[in-house]
Amino acid sequence: MSVLSVSGLVAGYSAADEILKQVGFELQAGEIACIIGPNGAGKSTLLKAIAGLVKSSKGSVVLNGEPINGRAPREITRLGLAYVPQEHNVFPSMTIVENLEMGGYVEPGRIAARMDNVMQRFPVLQRKRSQAARTLSGGERQILAMGMALMVEPKVLLLDEPSAGLSPVAAHRLFEDIRAINREGVAIALVEQNASDALDISDRAYILVDGRNHRTGIASDIANDAEIRRVFLGG
Ligand code: ADP
Ligand code: MG
Repeated sequence: MSVLSVSGLVAGYSAADEILKQVGFELQAGEIACIIGPNGAGKSTLLKAIAGLVKSSKGSVVLNGEPINGRAPREITRLGLAYVPQEHNVFPSMTIVENLEMGGYVEPGRIAARMDNVMQRFPVLQRKRSQAARTLSGGERQILAMGMALMVEPKVLLLDEPSAGLSPVAAHRLFEDIRAINREGVAIALVEQNASDALDISDRAYILVDGRNHRTGIASDIANDAEIRRVFLGG
């Protein structure tokens, strides 16, 4: 069953400027799908268009059977979709607890129980609960950003380059965390520069080039394709 279905999506930052020219994307319940491709291909724009932060002029986005194009981001969040942007994804001067409260603001009644769950999943957030987010390492900051997204108990999680700027060890740990979240039933759309690692933890893969679908397939097939290895995975 498709939890997220994007078809024929055309979107950009102004009416004259089509960044996504025709994009299709499907996310099945329980799976991780990665979106890879060169810089400027439109990967981040696709996530923003799904989350309601960039307007689409054509095409459709359907979340759990419900069309969501044109809806406000907070409404989309209430329908079960959480989005973690690549940058500026935590409030640096606020504490861990305050950041998690901000993550859960759309459903204030359920903050306490959800925060307990997030803290149990990520003990580092519990240990540092009263520290300002700016004191966290890069990997811890990404964990906080994912924790904020989990405060709405999403069915679908969109992650934009969560491993950017992390050491290989920190990136590896983060991918393990992403997998663990997925195993508990959250479907994940993962945009990554770190294509090999992303393919390793994904079920399906989408390659975007210049605002269009270039290749789509089972992640392991894409990872083993000679041409794709040469062009997109550095040999
Ligand atoms: P990717 O994430 O694949 O690197 P993006 O979706 O960020 O690519 O960008 C696709 C295109 O959209 C690029 O040409 C970029 O310059 C443009 N773009 C990105 N963000 C904005 C913005 N806020 N305003 C105008 N153009 C933008
Ligand atoms: Mg990007």
